Amino acid sequence: MKTTDDKPSRAEAAERTFAEFLSASGLRKTPERFEILSRVLEIKGHFGVDYLHGLMEESGYHVSRATVYNTLDLLLDCGLIRRHIFETHQARYEVAGTSHFHLVCTRCGRISEADDRQIARALDSIRHGDFRPAYFSATVYGLCGDCMAGEKSPQHKSRKKTRLT
Ligand SMILES: [Zn+2]
Ligand SMILES: [Zn+2]
Repeated sequence: MKTTDDKPSRAEAAERTFAEFLSASGLRKTPERFEILSRVLEIKGHFGVDYLHGLMEESGYHVSRATVYNTLDLLLDCGLIRRHIFETHQARYEVAGTSHFHLVCTRCGRISEADDRQIARALDSIRHGDFRPAYFSATVYGLCGDCMAGEKSPQHKSRKKTRLT
């Protein structure tokens, strides 16, 4: 379980990893890059570039969309975040953590996560020659509970257009 002092230490560790990565790559440690990282660490779940950029704008921190993109690429390179390309979305990012399954609703776009230890164990036991796996990500497409309920009852005809991140 998460404790209150778990958060600052995680953020500090991430900052250190990022700082070391930037130094090693000969890149500048700009305040923008670290501001973007700390915002990313606060987000729970999956997010797109536009959402993150909007979050920065809302809090009065102006950075270009290109800077957000560029920084996300750097965070990917140093393994702090992961990128998923779901059929129904633009690229979605999340803070790197455990391997899990994504359940993606093809109607409203909702993404939820599931854990299946049995399948995870099965995947772990498969050998891939000289390829060393680090984590897996699997996506299951279908209909979420809300969309299914809407399909069954005729009064729920109005489909939600808003896509959740
Ligand atoms: Zn749905
Ligand atoms: Zn996920």
